Amino acid sequence: MMMANYSIYLHIPFCHHRCSYCDFNTYAGQEQRIPAYVEALCREINLAAQSSPNPLAIHTIFFGGGTPSLLPPEQLDKILTALRQGFTFQQDMEITLEANPGTLAPGYLETLHELGFNRLSLGMQSANPEDLALLERQHQYFEVIQSVKWARQAGFNNVNLDLIFGIPHQTMERWQATLGLALGLNPEHLSLYALTLEHGTPFQRWTERGLIPLADDDLAADMYEWASERLDTAGYCQYEISNWARRKTDGDIYACLHNLQYWRNQPYLGFGAGAHGSAAGYRTADVLGIQAYIAHCAGGSGKPFPTTPATITSTPIDRRTEMQETMMVGLRLTEEGVSARRFKQRFGESLAEVFGNEIAYLVGLGLLEWAGEDNETLRLTRRGRLLGNQVFMQFVGD
Ligand code: SF4
Repeated sequence: MMMANYSIYLHIPFCHHRCSYCDFNTYAGQEQRIPAYVEALCREINLAAQSSPNPLAIHTIFFGGGTPSLLPPEQLDKILTALRQGFTFQQDMEITLEANPGTLAPGYLETLHELGFNRLSLGMQSANPEDLALLERQHQYFEVIQSVKWARQAGFNNVNLDLIFGIPHQTMERWQATLGLALGLNPEHLSLYALTLEHGTPFQRWTERGLIPLADDDLAADMYEWASERLDTAGYCQYEISNWARRKTDGDIYACLHNLQYWRNQPYLGFGAGAHGSAAGYRTADVLGIQAYIAHCAGGSGKPFPTTPATITSTPIDRRTEMQETMMVGLRLTEEGVSARRFKQRFGESLAEVFGNEIAYLVGLGLLEWAGEDNETLRLTRRGRLLGNQVFMQFVGD
């Protein structure tokens, strides 16, 4: 029996420089370890594929980081080859590479496209030089323009731009200019994130010492609302709290299929330092450090699926937790929401039986609504989108 529709996340924890706001699992100045890391990654992939009780079919692959575009094409090819050997690629695979502008060149992008990459996600963040300097980004705006142009020439017809709003000193006008310039590049997809102060980052220390102003939450909310309206006018469909996509000619949208897998609470395997997975009733997490990851993979042998020698935590997901998580991630989908019919099919119990009180409370507050053709889709209201975390928290108590 073939188990269908898995997704695979690969973590590439290398960056030239650590941005001032970043708390991702990534390391600067470790690029000499890339060959050994890729070898370890391929070994982890092989062991996971061998331990799987059935051949797994996969439909999305996402190289995230870190800066995956620091990997030379030969290394990316090795990883894809290991994946092809271990898993069955479905037709119309989505294969995404996260990339930083300034690390790309025309020939590199052409090779990526030939290798099978068909979605490029660029960390643009801002078009403003002062914003980019404060974030300690290693690129300038003109490199975003170049990267998109080269990506188009190489054949990429699915390009995402990541943008950040709520940056200290960023005015509404500056944000509006950034979004306008991003739209001028005509991306298929846009991800808009509010800057958050993460523990242990230079940003947090600078804020504590009064060197940069505290975030203005009201201004950030206004920026978000303005962007929602601007993107709607520009023909982009919002499909998730932070994500917008253009329509394809067949009426579908350029949604990120890989991230939809998470939001629909469907199975995925995570490979690489600090990568998380959710499969076969378990949540898994790999060891964080590059050296530790290489050592775990080199020294280990096969483990029961979905764990590998690099796994450091493996937590069973009970039914109640799976239902709670399905609500928390599904309600992020602003159009699709959580379907009462699909919930019942999946769990054998209705939404009303399991979360009747929570739903009634949140509908009463005007944060959730019933929508869709049969009024069987539960989703956030416009106001609820700004208060998403408060909504999600209602579903995690016992
Ligand atoms: S490029 Fe991305 S992952 Fe790397 S340090 Fe900057 S924000 Fe973090």
